[in-house]
Amino acid sequence: MTWLLSRLLMALGAALFGFVVGAVVQSATGIDSLALGLGVVAGVLLVLLVDAVRGNRLLSWLRGNQHDSAPRDTGLWGELGYRVERAMRDRDRAVARGRLELEQFLSAIEASPNGVLLLDSHEQIVWCNRVAADHFALDPQRDLLQRITNLVRAPAFVAYLQAGSYAEPLVLGNGRGPGTLSIIVREYGEGMRLVLTLDITERVRNEAMRRDFVANVSHEIRTPLTVLSGFIETLHTLPLTAVERERVIALMTQQTDRMQTLVADLLTLAQLEGSPRPAPDRWVGLDGLLLRIAADAEALSGGRHRLRLTPGTGVELAGVESELLSAVANLVTNAVRYTPDGGEIEVAWRLLEDGSGELTVIDTGPGIAREHIARLTERFYRVDGSRSRETGGTGLGLSIVKHVMQRHGGELMIQSEVGKGSRFRLVFPAARMRHTSDSALGDEAAFSGAAALSDH
Ligand code: ADP
Repeated sequence: MTWLLSRLLMALGAALFGFVVGAVVQSATGIDSLALGLGVVAGVLLVLLVDAVRGNRLLSWLRGNQHDSAPRDTGLWGELGYRVERAMRDRDRAVARGRLELEQFLSAIEASPNGVLLLDSHEQIVWCNRVAADHFALDPQRDLLQRITNLVRAPAFVAYLQAGSYAEPLVLGNGRGPGTLSIIVREYGEGMRLVLTLDITERVRNEAMRRDFVANVSHEIRTPLTVLSGFIETLHTLPLTAVERERVIALMTQQTDRMQTLVADLLTLAQLEGSPRPAPDRWVGLDGLLLRIAADAEALSGGRHRLRLTPGTGVELAGVESELLSAVANLVTNAVRYTPDGGEIEVAWRLLEDGSGELTVIDTGPGIAREHIARLTERFYRVDGSRSRETGGTGLGLSIVKHVMQRHGGELMIQSEVGKGSRFRLVFPAARMRHTSDSALGDEAAFSGAAALSDH
């Protein structure tokens, strides 16, 4: 209330001024009423003048950009200026705080792995983060305030947006490529819509792979089961001779063996997927492993192929023995199974320049056409299904090899040419290899020689 006091003082000053003016007029003219009138007019004019000057100072500050502080007057005008300035500074601070919060909020949404897009009631893009822009192939700056349906023209999307019923998400091909998007829309405010996009390509692919896997396993098991139940029926209903009986039982054994191999391979795969990475300090002698594999390969070939092996590599590999054995054995067994009689199979080891080691299984078999090579490590993928099954294949061998190599930090590489043969290379990283002797440069030996060594 200090302004009231100064206002009273000003009124008092103006009255005093009026009184002085009146007294001067009265002594000059001797007319009382004129002196009184002029005294009052002078007092009021003084108040008006002071108010006009101060009011104008405040007005010109208000009309400006208000960067300086308000005029520091005393009394009512000073108080008014101070209050107006404080209210304005408070508002500016609130606006700046609001802007900062909005920026932080938007950068949080920007960092989201999901796409976020805001639409106004006319389906115009109000804002979108980079992920949403990428999903819909938009430009986050240029396409602002554009109608989304002019930019994303997929009929399913347009229909979904315009139908106005968003209980279920829409699954749509990604605007940028072959991927799949899940789109969720939520309404808010007055006709505004929030569009959330999620890249579900991986999930869709995994689901498809799981479905295929279950279908494949069921098919692989059902086939021998059907054959077996046919034979059981035959044994039940037909009077067979001893020779026929023997033949049927041999065929039944073949089918059960097939199922057993399949189950064993499935268990191996499940174990590979479920167990931790092999320890880097459990050493397995490669030579011992190769000798065992050579003996098995000799037995499987039964002298139908020429088999050669690099003897005495003197190398140890860090990893799980059963896994490494399974990887190499799968390759050598495949070479024997797919190479026609009289063909040649070679297993060679060499050190590469970067310190890694390479085990190669080479055959002179039928080879594999280029379009199949990339898919060979898929589960149940076969180039020649009947040849694979005839020779007891499950279609899981190379998939197991790939897994084992990945777990050991290595790689499986396949080169092949139809009619010329195949070369399967297992590359082991230097970190998982060590040498126990200098015999890595030894001459090649026949498998049978190597196998004989293992008998000692
Ligand atoms: P399978 O049990 O059918 O042999 P794999 O996963 O081991 O399954 O191999 C996948 C497919 O790759 C095989 O069905 C076969 O068509 C092809 N394949 C594998 N190894 C060879 C090879 N050495 N020569 C020719 N084809 C091969």
